[in-house]
Amino acid sequence: MRSAKQKHEEHEEHEERRRDERVSSAGATKRGFRSLFCPSCGRRTSDLIEGLCRDCFAARIEIANVVPSKILLKYCRVCDSFFRGGERVSVERAAEDFVTREIMKRLQCEDFRVQVRDIKEMRGSISVVMRVSVVVSGVEKEEEFPLEISLRREVCEVCSRFVGGYYEAIIQLRAEGREPTEDEIRIAREIAFSSLREKDFISKEKHVRRGVDFYVSSSACARRISREIVRYLGGSVSESPKLYGRVEGRNVYRVSFSVRLPPH
Ligand SMILES: [Zn+2]
Ligand SMILES: [Zn+2]
Repeated sequence: MRSAKQKHEEHEEHEERRRDERVSSAGATKRGFRSLFCPSCGRRTSDLIEGLCRDCFAARIEIANVVPSKILLKYCRVCDSFFRGGERVSVERAAEDFVTREIMKRLQCEDFRVQVRDIKEMRGSISVVMRVSVVVSGVEKEEEFPLEISLRREVCEVCSRFVGGYYEAIIQLRAEGREPTEDEIRIAREIAFSSLREKDFISKEKHVRRGVDFYVSSSACARRISREIVRYLGGSVSESPKLYGRVEGRNVYRVSFSVRLPPH
């Protein structure tokens, strides 16, 4: 026969077991709904991001679909350069900058990387393969997709001035009591061309009775060249601006730089 005490202990044990079962079954139910299965692929995982497993979450991140697949670049056939606005750019940089801007505008991500994988030039357009990886809610996603670059063929501002024979300044290369020698002219020409910066050009070289005239795109550039010639070959330089006309309400001058090489 069991004593009342034993009965009481058994009853208590039973009650404890029932409590444990309730706790564990409630816990399992909770975990089962919230974090044991990915509702999209059914995979068992405890690592859910916004309710999905990593793979399903990553699959829902769209990169190529949110970035426009075409851009337009200006191309100048005279200097074989690409432009965005007035700025000379490489195809690579233009593509990377474009995709970077679009990602920042259209995707909520913690981090991203944009890379050009391949560039293929075809007639009239360029096909670029982009590789982009983004990090969204701690999940990384990488995609490769094509970007078509259409070309708007134009003669750029610098080249159209050059082609039109534009100049703002003339360097008049002369020598004191003699004519400049062939060597001096060659050196002056080399100095002139090596002093050109991005938008500078020499539109004409004219041989005149007592020397040579160089027609230069800007007076700042002509000044730089003149000083360099004098530094290298000796002599002196003087500047004389002449009013050429008015453009958009301001006076435009053409400046003559008279470079006089020393006598022999
Ligand atoms: Zn899944
Ligand atoms: Zn050009």
